Amino acid sequence: MKPIAILGGTFDPVHLGHLRVAWEAAEALGAQVHLMPANMPPHRAAPVADARQRVRLLEAALVGQDRLVLDTRELRRDGPSYTVDTLRELRAETSVLQPLVLLLGTDAFAGLTTWHEWRMLFDLAHIMVLTRPGHVAALPRELAAEITPRRATAAQELRESAAGKVLDLPVTPLEISASSVRTLLANGREPRWLLPDALSAHAELLAPYRQRQP
Ligand code: ATP
Repeated sequence: MKPIAILGGTFDPVHLGHLRVAWEAAEALGAQVHLMPANMPPHRAAPVADARQRVRLLEAALVGQDRLVLDTRELRRDGPSYTVDTLRELRAETSVLQPLVLLLGTDAFAGLTTWHEWRMLFDLAHIMVLTRPGHVAALPRELAAEITPRRATAAQELRESAAGKVLDLPVTPLEISASSVRTLLANGREPRWLLPDALSAHAELLAPYRQRQP
């Protein structure tokens, strides 16, 4: 069955690193990827742009796409966006057979044991770890033990069951981060070729980042 994949993040602002990695996951899985902006990320400082502004940037970036879609469910919830709650909500809306795939960068994955109800994540979704070619992250022993029996070797395995497997996906490394884009904008520079072209027609959406942060 065609999986639904989720790429969560702050998207403060969305950039080509996000879109490229989402696209590569969509192609590898034959999936639709939900880009899911977080409201109050439990592990992070407050975003520079408010939720409405980050959504407008994502909408502008995704015009004309059908495999990458915006999913604002976490913004509609009060309080911290725990991934386990988001997956429960998605699971409740879909068939028990629907493959759900949580997309995580290597660093986020290595920190998984600090997440709220982390073992439950495997009951609700597969995890696809977006890896940098040649880069191997050390995993805490508890996590390594949990995932050893869950390791998949091909994306097809994630299409054939609803949850519980872990697969690495080597992705094209683009050295772009939202923080470097914010720094460029705060310094009056143009983040050209780091952001989707569609955003150049919406300069006003980047205005919050141009004001120097205290
Ligand atoms: P910041 O610089 O503010 O920390 P960020 O650019 O890492 O932000 P997030 O919104 O935190 O962006 O990222 C959401 C997801 O996208 C994370 O899983 C992150 O690993 C992934 N991601 C971000 N930038 C890249 C990139 N250049 N290549 C691959 N994945 C990326």
